[in-house]
Amino acid sequence: MSAGAKQALAGRPALAGARRLIVKIGSALLVDETGGRLRADWMAALAEDIAALRAGGTEVLIVSSGAIAIGRLDLGLAGARIKLEEKQAAAAIGQIRLAHAWQETLAGHGIAVAQVLLTPGDTEQRRRHLNARNTVETLLRLGAVPVINENDTVGTEEIRFGDNDRLAARVAQMISADVLVLLSDIDGLYTADPRHNPGAAFVPEVNEITPEVEAMAGGVNPGYSSGGMVTKIAAAKIAMRAGCRVAIGDGKALHSLHAIGGERRCTWFVPVAEPATARKSWIAGALTPAGALVVDDGAAKALAGGKSLLPAGVATVEGAFDRGDAVAILTADGRRIGCGLVAYSAVDAGLIAGHKSGEIEALLGYRGRDEMIHRDDLVLDG
Ligand code: GLU
Repeated sequence: MSAGAKQALAGRPALAGARRLIVKIGSALLVDETGGRLRADWMAALAEDIAALRAGGTEVLIVSSGAIAIGRLDLGLAGARIKLEEKQAAAAIGQIRLAHAWQETLAGHGIAVAQVLLTPGDTEQRRRHLNARNTVETLLRLGAVPVINENDTVGTEEIRFGDNDRLAARVAQMISADVLVLLSDIDGLYTADPRHNPGAAFVPEVNEITPEVEAMAGGVNPGYSSGGMVTKIAAAKIAMRAGCRVAIGDGKALHSLHAIGGERRCTWFVPVAEPATARKSWIAGALTPAGALVVDDGAAKALAGGKSLLPAGVATVEGAFDRGDAVAILTADGRRIGCGLVAYSAVDAGLIAGHKSGEIEALLGYRGRDEMIHRDDLVLDG
């Protein structure tokens, strides 16, 4: 490491207090515009910042764009305006290089990298949401860094710059991240476009995305950063609703992740609720139960004590629901005590109800989750 880099890394990263951090990186930061090559020095510096955060106990995920920007060069389409199907083809080619580059760069720190390609549906539709979340949670538990991008080859909508801002926010919501960093080419939000308004003032903190804040980002126009400040504000809104703090800051320099929020200023979007609370209010408020699980007294007591609901505590299963659906939790006398996202379909839940978790595989022919409803997915009434 150079002396300059050592100095840049002096002290703790400003974001060291984060529990679960997502850093979203746009193509413009990663890919050298003229050659269409990945900026290896920038990636190496980021890897050092990530290693430092992880050493302090922060879990880190990367949402990385760049597949199209890299792939179009290999297709001889650099500079040209390309059609949607060519973008999708470029993404299919570029994604290999992109994932490989992350793998190589983080391997230098002994960090395993996992490629996760998602479509918006994977984060929105509950069953796929649950699968995607379990996989990402498992990767984090095993110590890997998930590198996430949109699955551009199957995407049906026009791929636009800025999609990954939203994807990063949806992932933040899905896995209850507490910090999302959107690395941009501008140091944050201004009261107006600073390129055209010398009087534009920097906004250090936003507590609520009001129409005024949206107007600062430039309304419906592309805005003033490469991905557009408008999409970043839209992403911040999604993440804030999930209790996740969002930083928008300039990522061009080496070691930006280390410096951001500390010696390098950024705009912070600070939500009122914590991620866990926000997730629970989403489960309790936004979802209509598709069925019910009637539990025995022992299970009701265990739930009140903060435990998960195990199959052994379920007496009967009501309704037709799928894995990932919301279900009500009832006592034997029909009183509702809560609700949660169930890990089994109604049919499978019926087969394992009353049984020990160790018997699940023998009963269903596959090894599912030990819990019928995990405590993170469960909200008790009142
Ligand atoms: N998924 C696209 C890519 O990897 C980028 C989309 C975006 O930057 O929002 O090239």
